[in-house]
Amino acid sequence: MAKHQKNSGWTTTAAEALRVGRVGPIAEFDPGSTPGFAGDKDAGEKLLTERGEALADLQEILFANGRAGDHRSVLLVLQGMDTAGKGGIVRHVGGLVDPQGLSIKGFGKPTPEELDHDFLWRIHRALPPIGRIGIFDRSHYEDVLPVRVHNLVPKAEWEKRYEVINQFERDLVASGTTVIKVAMVVSKAEQKARLTERLDRPDKHWKYNPGDIDERAFWDDYLDAYQAIFDRCDNDTAPWYLIPADKKWFARLAVCELLIGALENLELTWPAADFDVEAEKKRVAELDD
Ligand code: AMP
Ligand code: MG
Repeated sequence: MAKHQKNSGWTTTAAEALRVGRVGPIAEFDPGSTPGFAGDKDAGEKLLTERGEALADLQEILFANGRAGDHRSVLLVLQGMDTAGKGGIVRHVGGLVDPQGLSIKGFGKPTPEELDHDFLWRIHRALPPIGRIGIFDRSHYEDVLPVRVHNLVPKAEWEKRYEVINQFERDLVASGTTVIKVAMVVSKAEQKARLTERLDRPDKHWKYNPGDIDERAFWDDYLDAYQAIFDRCDNDTAPWYLIPADKKWFARLAVCELLIGALENLELTWPAADFDVEAEKKRVAELDD
């Protein structure tokens, strides 16, 4: 176990505790749980502040290596039902690092131009540049989630996509992008509470989408569609994690910890200077004040 996790409240690494094969199936998953973490909200929030600094350091090393010619990047795929808190992860976990090191892309209903191409077209165009952490707020998995639930393309078509996705992710990882996939799971009760809040607060009306109520009617179909992506697209190359999302503080802490783990696995160090440091020190010392 990594040394940072001693006495931190984590009883096992987030990557172990939240891996989909360990915590699934999704239909029996408790969205109010905190797998692998023994601390309470106060402890979790305090830890997130601390771990945010570790994440920022690792992100800077990744960026520096990108500048120095390294080809690595990290892609965090966020999926989850409406109100699960994907936007909150972008703001509160993405917000812990230098915004210049991020590449954030949200995927909505495909535009006519996007529909004119294969489903991965818009995904390829949005991949993070080297040295960056990319965050996808929804992703290519939408093409086997609402698309499957509503048969937006014939079953024979969406059935093929699982293997197309696996191949795509294998190539992506082989070319230097670490892929971590996170499904945020909110309970029906918590979703109702969040929708109620969106209606009660004028500053949240912009987030309210009447269509979300219609999608909620397909809850169990979505659970099946999610289980299918876990069964068919979870692998050590591009793992899926289940994040209980009723407690926002835990979801943020968990995703931060998963990102830290992914970055640590790259074993990056500060790139060596491509100039003569001693010679440059002398030149700077000789400058006029
Ligand atoms: P939001 O994330 O709240 O902005 O909503 C985006 C909407 O676009 C959600 O209802 C998604 O399910 C939907 N969406 C995203 N990608 C696709 C796709 N490939 N096919 C159908 N609907 C999609
Ligand atoms: Mg929405």
